[in-house]
Amino acid sequence: IKSKLPGTKTSIFSIMSKMANDHNAINLSQGFPNFETDQKLKDLVTRAMEEGYNQYPPDSGVQVLREEIIKKIRSLYGKEYDVDSEITITSGATEALYTAITAFVKKGDEVIVLKPAYDTYEPTIKLNGGKPVQIQLKGDNYKVDWEEVRSVITSKTKMIIINTPHNPTGTILSEEDMLQLQNILSETDIILLSDEVYEHLIFDKEQHQSASKFSELSERSIVCASFGKTFHNTGWKTGYCVAPENLMKEIRKIHEITVFSVVHPMQRAYAEYLKNAENYLSLSKFYQTKRDLFLNLIKDSKFTYTPSKGTYYQLLNFSGITDENDVNFAERLVKEHGLASIPVSVFNINEKDNNQLRFCFAKTDETLEKAAEILCKL
Ligand code: PMP
Ligand code: GLN
Repeated sequence: IKSKLPGTKTSIFSIMSKMANDHNAINLSQGFPNFETDQKLKDLVTRAMEEGYNQYPPDSGVQVLREEIIKKIRSLYGKEYDVDSEITITSGATEALYTAITAFVKKGDEVIVLKPAYDTYEPTIKLNGGKPVQIQLKGDNYKVDWEEVRSVITSKTKMIIINTPHNPTGTILSEEDMLQLQNILSETDIILLSDEVYEHLIFDKEQHQSASKFSELSERSIVCASFGKTFHNTGWKTGYCVAPENLMKEIRKIHEITVFSVVHPMQRAYAEYLKNAENYLSLSKFYQTKRDLFLNLIKDSKFTYTPSKGTYYQLLNFSGITDENDVNFAERLVKEHGLASIPVSVFNINEKDNNQLRFCFAKTDETLEKAAEILCKL
């Protein structure tokens, strides 16, 4: 059989988590918490099931959840989306990204992707006959060179994908970045796909700069979000996207033929849980404390780093420890030292830039302490 995606391999997240299990290693690779989601939220799911919310919900998601999300976006970013026509609840952000790309990218279209990039963007572009146009983020802080972005725009450019806070680097886009992007796109028909799954995990008093906040930009934007990341339940696979009606109409066509609708009782539970804004506003502080603990625990190690500004990932540079590449070192770290991480070159263009590993700090303090002990001995 001729593969439709010949260059695409098994996801590094699956590979590393399996390797961690096989070697009984501490798993700081795939991004998920090793602590429980709030009991209140679990109780809300049980209640929803007992109340009989066990059949198909509406394809766009349950009304009360759409309403609560729209209120949240209004209060945080000042943008008003229409509850009936401008929001869809999806099977995680993964489905939102897939449907958004599939709804618009066709054969010959170009899509600008900033590298390192999350691993689902490019295969989805290619599956639709599109061409990823890659731009490397620059320097230790992985900044976007907006002039370079401007220079690669052609009449074929259909979409640009951004991700803030950024997986795997933990960098964030500033207001100035967003204004530059808005300016660059203003004379084009390019769609902005904004992956904001870590919107509530942002540190050092920084503000998340959502594409929804910028009125001109929001008119061409699809913004994707994930409850799994926000509420410590990645296995519930529930997220959403918001976009102006003309874009959402097309996204829903793909959503209906891929999943139609998504898990019903979880939607009821999230709707209730979102009513208390503290449930998401408390997360930045919670994860900043985890980041600080982790960095403090490894401060005497041979690793160097720039503190993560958002997400629950921290990159560590290991040039002071070994010359081997990140894939080899990550493998050795699991097999010989019992600690799993993610090699960054897998998402990057610069193979030279392969001396960093990504560690997920969404873990109990005890796990972070054990992991740091290993890292400090290297
Ligand atoms: N985008 C990014 C940048 C991610 O890190 C992830 C993983 N959570 C996703 C999208 C997918 O999110 P979900 O688990 O909600 O499908
Ligand atoms: N987003 C998660 C990460 O970056 C993994 C999601 C997945 O396993 N596909 O680790």
